[in-house]
Parts: sequence; structure tokens; C-alpha cells
Amino acid sequence: MPNFSEIGLPEPVLRSLAEAGYVNPTPIQEKAIPVILSGRDLIGAAQTGTGKTAAFALPALARLGPAAGKPRCLVLVPTRELAVQVDENFQKYGKYLGTKTALLYGGVGYGNQTKALQDGVDVVIATPGRLLDLHEQRILDLQSIQITILDEVDRMLDMGFIEDVSRIIRLCPKERQTLLFSATVDERIGKIANWALRDPITVDVRTGKTAAETVDHAIFPVDVFQKYDLLLELLRRSDYKSVIVFTRTKRDADRIAEWIEGHGTPVATLHADRSQSERTQALQGFKQGKYSILVATDIASRGLDISGVTHVINYNVPEHPEDYVHRIGRTGRAATEGEAFTLFSPDELHHLQQIEQLLGRPIERRKCEGFRYFSEPNLTLGGAKTSAPRKRNR
Ligand code: AMP
Repeated sequence: MPNFSEIGLPEPVLRSLAEAGYVNPTPIQEKAIPVILSGRDLIGAAQTGTGKTAAFALPALARLGPAAGKPRCLVLVPTRELAVQVDENFQKYGKYLGTKTALLYGGVGYGNQTKALQDGVDVVIATPGRLLDLHEQRILDLQSIQITILDEVDRMLDMGFIEDVSRIIRLCPKERQTLLFSATVDERIGKIANWALRDPITVDVRTGKTAAETVDHAIFPVDVFQKYDLLLELLRRSDYKSVIVFTRTKRDADRIAEWIEGHGTPVATLHADRSQSERTQALQGFKQGKYSILVATDIASRGLDISGVTHVINYNVPEHPEDYVHRIGRTGRAATEGEAFTLFSPDELHHLQQIEQLLGRPIERRKCEGFRYFSEPNLTLGGAKTSAPRKRNR
């Protein structure tokens, strides 16, 4: 395995890597960095947690060289949280190049973002809506962009950003390097790649194993009005260090957070109706271990690099089957053991069947032994195989 200097990264970048304590490149870094350094366009098929941010940030910084005060690299991301993470990466690795970044996302005032742009930046990291706003107001000019990076493109398409993303790509100069990263590469991604990228090289580091195969996950059938109680019971019984409880709606997230806090455990809450500072505080508090429970909508199901999550509990069966995989993928990262439980009421059968169809197999049904069910849970609803409750040695 080559080390970072053998891949061809310049000294100021290597110094920041040494400081970060990175010794060897990850597989996506090993494959993508030389391609990007050579100036070629690239499609990177990789999930978060693989080191993909550094896989594009390091060679992009190397190509940009010392700070020049004009936006020359644009990174487009689906969510504010991911924008913050990418920005942290660029700042860390660009420290000795003096790289300046602007972080542009909605939900906050324009003042700081405008000032950052006016002061001169090298790298712009943005969510699509706010970027277009600032462009329309002529505060941001994309004509000096040399490298356009589209991160988590599948997620951006799922969130309905296709038109915004296309517009933004068109606003970038024709002569540019374009890098596209996505956890899934399907027809939709292929379409964008076809017109936005020029003769790209594809680097695929997906293992073929999804979280659904590496995480211990199970369905807990229960009447809808007993979900709150069963949730508390599962939390009580799980030997969790840190757990994310996913809900379908923002309202559910708030109510469940209140319910759990009412039973004595402080929680962090993350959803789109919370202010940016509340979201940042919630996420930081959870990452730093101040809160061991995060209650969140799907805003947290993708992309975020939160390590050490031992449990995921789905309060509802996710409506979109891919979200199931993304949600349970929050646990069991980087070879840590994870457990994911889903509370399932009979009215959610359709969603559950869609998930099982996507996975190509049934998910195990479990009963929470000793829990006072009002009516006996139906462990065969949906036709899945049942199994005796398992005890895990953790
Ligand atoms: P990402 O896939 O970009 O979200 O990165 C996942 C995590 O791996 C982040 O916390 C990075 O800081 C870390 N990381 C990235 N590259 C390396 C590397 N070569 N060696 C060690 N850690 C890394």
C-alpha cells in the first residue's frame, strides 16, 4: 500500500495529514487521489465512512495550491450538516496552504456568508438553494471555478434538488474538472454523469455488503398505541452507548424527545424545523457524548459521520425503503458492532414489505419478552420467518 507522499500529495498537505495522524490512505483515497491529481473527471462510488471526503479534498487542495482568494473549487452537498463536515475537512487539510473556505447553507442570515465571500475564498462548500440565492444576488460568481465536486448526489436527487444541481453545474465554466460522489450509482446518476462529466474514470469501493448484512437488525411488531412504551423498554434493555431514534415526522421527533426526557434521560433532537444553532448543538452534543440519545428525522440518516453509534431504533417503519438501509447504516460503522430495531405496527405493512423486497429477504421478527403487550404481537404478519428472541453477548 502506498503512503500519502507516494501518491503525489504536496508537502503542505502532507504536513496536515501527519498532524491528523493519518498514516495510510483508505481504498477510495488510494484509487481516487491519483486520478484527481491527473486532472481527470471522476465518479466515486462510496459511502460515507470510507474516507471519501479526504479522497476529494486532498487532491483538490493539491491542485489549487496556495490560496488565491478567488472561488476555484465548489463542493455541492445535500445538507447543512454535511456541508459543515466537508468544510472542517478542507480547513484541516488546507491549513498550511492558507486555503480559505466559505460555508453556504440556508436557515441562517446572509451576513457572515456574504462577508466570507467578499473577503476572498478558495473553496466554496454549499447546499444548492443558498448557493443559487447568493448567485442571483451577485454576491457569488462561479466563473473562476476550476473544480466542481458533487457530493452525495443520490441524496441530492432524493431530496428533489435535481433542477438546482443542474442549474449550478451550468453556471460553472465549461472548462473544469468535475467529481461526482454517490453511495448508489444508478440510471439517474448515470444521466447526470453523462452530461456533466467528461470522460470520467469510475472508482468503486463499495464492498457489496450493505449495513443490512452487517448490522443485527430486527422488527418488533406492536400496536401503534404501545410504541412509546416499547421504545422505552427497548432503550432500558439495550446496552447502548449511543443510540439514534428515527422518526418519520418532526412532530413525532419532538414528542418522543419529550417522552424520553420525561422519563429521566436528556436527549438531543435533530430535524429540519429546528434552528441551525439548535441543530449544531444537538449534533455536537451527541457526537461528544453529552447526550447518549439522538432523536432525529431522516435528516440524520445519511452522510453524517457519527462514530460509535451502537444502536438505531426506528420508531416508524421508514416510508422509503432505501432510508431503512441508510438509517441502520448509522450503526455498526467502521467494524463496530451494531444493533437496529424497528417498531412496526400493522398499518405499516406496506412499507415493511417494500423494504424486504429491496433487501431480497425477510427481516427477523422479535418479541420483547416480558414486555406487557396489550395484544399478542403478530410475528408472522407480512409472511416473514419468525425466530426465537435472541440473546446477544455484547
Ligand atoms: P468520510 O468518509 O469522509 O466521512 O471519513 C470518515 C472518517 O475517516 C473521518 O472521520 C475522517 O477524518 C477519517 N479519515 C479519512 N481518511 C483517513 C485516513 N487515511 N486515515 C485515517 N482516518 C481517515
